[in-house]
Amino acid sequence: MKTVIARAEGAALTWAKEYILNGEVVAFHTETVYGLGADARSDNAVKRIFQLKGRPADNPLIVHVHKDYDIASLVDYVPPYAEALKREYLPGPLTMVFPSKGKVSALVSCGLQTLAVRVPSSVTAQAFLKEADIPIAAPSANLSKHVSPVTARHVYDDFAGKIPLILDGGECSGGIESTVLDCTGEVPQILRAGLVTQEMIARVAGDCGVYRMKSGEKPKSPGMAYQHYSPRCATAYYPQEELAAAVERYQREEQAGNRPCFLCESELACGALSAFCTLDLGHTGKEMARRLYALLRRGEEISGILIAIEPKEKGGVMEGVLNRLTRACRGNGNEA
Ligand code: AMP
Ligand code: MG
Repeated sequence: MKTVIARAEGAALTWAKEYILNGEVVAFHTETVYGLGADARSDNAVKRIFQLKGRPADNPLIVHVHKDYDIASLVDYVPPYAEALKREYLPGPLTMVFPSKGKVSALVSCGLQTLAVRVPSSVTAQAFLKEADIPIAAPSANLSKHVSPVTARHVYDDFAGKIPLILDGGECSGGIESTVLDCTGEVPQILRAGLVTQEMIARVAGDCGVYRMKSGEKPKSPGMAYQHYSPRCATAYYPQEELAAAVERYQREEQAGNRPCFLCESELACGALSAFCTLDLGHTGKEMARRLYALLRRGEEISGILIAIEPKEKGGVMEGVLNRLTRACRGNGNEA
């Protein structure tokens, strides 16, 4: 199969709709990362997503709809705080989990009674979703366990010859996956940190919890229990206090011929570590979110071992950045 990369306009939109209605899978730009979309109502189309990615069968998918779609037709109860969040943050990088009406394939939620819904703000995603005008199930468009894609080229690298079309909207401006928010309780609870932060949610909803999985417990958001975001090279992770040990490690790896490279914030890349091979994450949380995945993919191309130094900034968007960075470079956890 030939994989075409096209902007979401004219004939490409017509093809996208035809592929989707025929049970095929189409990749598309969103403001977070690229998605791998299929008809959420069709068991076979949803199965195809899991197959293509090699995604574990118990890791549920998010359903994407356009901004005028009637979300109430898919879910049972939207509490008042969630209505307020919808008004404030949608379209945008916020996924909301509600009790499902069971209108889409049961495979989307992997047997859970809930449905995760998202309305992306990307012009490309909106054009595609409007054209299809059905709920589109879409995980990130990477092979399971690999780094999420933030350019059409990244999607192509993982799926060339396996999907017919990638709707190209350029580089993703957000850079990390959406915030996943459980809206089934009295108080909303963050299941996955992202660009819409706890503070932003609490300001509108009055309160906002953060779900922390207890050991041995069945995870509320199954994806968070899986390995994820891993570059295809060795990795290491050091807090800033251990910078001297990280430099020693770099030198040892270099002597062994392992092509080390640091992944660190600008202050270090342009300062203490400027004499070494570095990938510069940037200054602010938003900048680090936007650059992270492209740099992890760059790291696997140019280095044998990527040595991440924990950025100083904490809280807000950094919750999401640090969650991805530690899981990518510390080798614990992983999702598809
Ligand atoms: P991805 O599609 O790779 O961005 O991953 C989707 C994320 O949304 C995973 O972490 C899933 O566990 C989570 N998710 C999807 N549907 C649900 C749901 N019904 N309840 C809780 N988490 C969900
Ligand atoms: Mg993913």
